[in-house]
Amino acid sequence: MPLIPMRVLLDHAAENDYGVVALNVNNMEQIQAIMIAAKETDSPVIIQASRGARKYSNDAYLRHLILAAVELNPTIPIVMHLDHGNSPETCASAIEQNFTSVMMDGSLDAAGEVPSSFEYNVRVTKEVTDAAHAVGVSVEGEIGALGGIEDGHGAGLSEEEAQEHLTDPDQAEEFVALTGVDALAVAIGTSHGAYKFKKKPTGDVLKMDLIEEIHRRLPNTHLVMHGSSSVPQELQDIINQYGGGLNQTYGVPVEAIKKGIANGVRKVNVDTDNRLAITGAIRKVFVESPEAFDPRKYLVPARAAMAEVCKARMIAFGQAGHAGDIPIKTCKEMIDFYG
Ligand SMILES: [Zn+2]
Repeated sequence: MPLIPMRVLLDHAAENDYGVVALNVNNMEQIQAIMIAAKETDSPVIIQASRGARKYSNDAYLRHLILAAVELNPTIPIVMHLDHGNSPETCASAIEQNFTSVMMDGSLDAAGEVPSSFEYNVRVTKEVTDAAHAVGVSVEGEIGALGGIEDGHGAGLSEEEAQEHLTDPDQAEEFVALTGVDALAVAIGTSHGAYKFKKKPTGDVLKMDLIEEIHRRLPNTHLVMHGSSSVPQELQDIINQYGGGLNQTYGVPVEAIKKGIANGVRKVNVDTDNRLAITGAIRKVFVESPEAFDPRKYLVPARAAMAEVCKARMIAFGQAGHAGDIPIKTCKEMIDFYG
């Protein structure tokens, strides 16, 4: 089947009360890991690439690798999504490169350095929504700003600064009405990267009640949780056991994400957990088999370790078993829907 727009998948998720993990990729092994997990759990998938990923792997490689995943997995619905587009130009270039969904993150300025004004965010997001919907491509916007650094871009907000830029439910309502986005990323105290919380998060730093309020006001908008890796202790331990130097950190518990899914969260971004799994597996091979030099010796276990993380999230978020029951629509077929 063709790549599908994200709206098609998230509508189905909303009707059937499940969430979908959105997984970042930079290379072939990560795409393969996602597809191994999707196949084994019969899950529809969102594969996403950030600006950093597009720069690292080149759009042509990304496009062909994802088309290979489509070709090899004809029964799995796949969304190709741009993560954190910083400008209408970045989103337009992604659409040219086959992306079926784009995120316009106007919550920060184009350099990703400082929180932008509400007016700027509305203007750039509306521009992207108009252009994307005209060709049936889905759009995710963001209101409020997250902490941490998104894939090496910008200086990033600290955990404390992020707490000052939580999503305001009034603004969220207005933003969706003015822009017409399909999905909305909300800031509820999470941050990008491995270092999210200095201790196990409680309701005073991870504001799940804010999700409930936003969902109550926007029952038909698909909510998105960014920075939602759980940063499992065992993945931190493997890295440190084999010579790594991670400082103790805490992520977003899977149970909190499930609560979000019960309150309108349909897309959950997970990247760090996969990075940790890959790095741990590679470090283990380097320590245990110092004589090895064939990259496959460490890339095979790295890919398998990432597939395990993907599988666990697909099962926990409820998308497992749904690959076959999505009513498939192409971007072309979505043009009328938006028109
Ligand atoms: Zn993000």
